Amino acid sequence: MAEIKKQMIACPKCKKNIEVGIWDKIELPYDADQKEKVLRNVFFKVHCDTCNILFPIAYRCQYNDLENKYLIWLVPRMDDRDKADIEAYNQRLKNDNVLRLAQGGYRYRIVRNDNELREKVFIFDEGLDDRFIETMKLMYVPMFKSNVAKDHRIMGLYFDKKKDGGYQWVIILEKMMQPLLADVNMEIYEDMKVKLKDIVEEMTPEGLAQIYALWAKDVLNTQVERATAEKQEAEE
Ligand SMILES: [Zn+2]
Repeated sequence: MAEIKKQMIACPKCKKNIEVGIWDKIELPYDADQKEKVLRNVFFKVHCDTCNILFPIAYRCQYNDLENKYLIWLVPRMDDRDKADIEAYNQRLKNDNVLRLAQGGYRYRIVRNDNELREKVFIFDEGLDDRFIETMKLMYVPMFKSNVAKDHRIMGLYFDKKKDGGYQWVIILEKMMQPLLADVNMEIYEDMKVKLKDIVEEMTPEGLAQIYALWAKDVLNTQVERATAEKQEAEE
């Protein structure tokens, strides 16, 4: 069961103190309402009645889906204590057989903000594999940079569902209020699942880990290196 601590947080606009519930974890299937809020991107937001604004709050929280078997740690700051806790948890996964058995077949992820948490929950709900979504993003980024983003820095790129079915990219640009949207070609995803299967399995860390752009870059670089080495061998 989640432990909810009450905390007073000042509205950034009017400075009024608002009482907020800080959840140490969200556990599915029990906390279905909280999950809905995560998916609507309002769970880590506070409403000020006076100003009628929503403002973000960031704190560490664990999202554990017992049925779909995944655990995501939202770690906004990643300070020394966070790092030590992650290391300790991963050690426990290695050494604690009871925990390993209880969580057989689990996926473990670390995310840094609520958008990332929302995206992972959405991807896993859809029965998709976030590792191939991340490698697919790298295929799209150069196109977005030269095309839709142009003079703006890309601050975030998220996988999402279109209203009329199918998937879309949500591209968050610096100094732009509205995100840009672009269709996702899932053939690329299917193609990657076939081509990168072995290397992705091999490069997926045990325990809690960030599966994000830098990880995906590593995967694609390793694949290119190996393909080049194989080609050279064949030529010799
Ligand atoms: Zn206010």
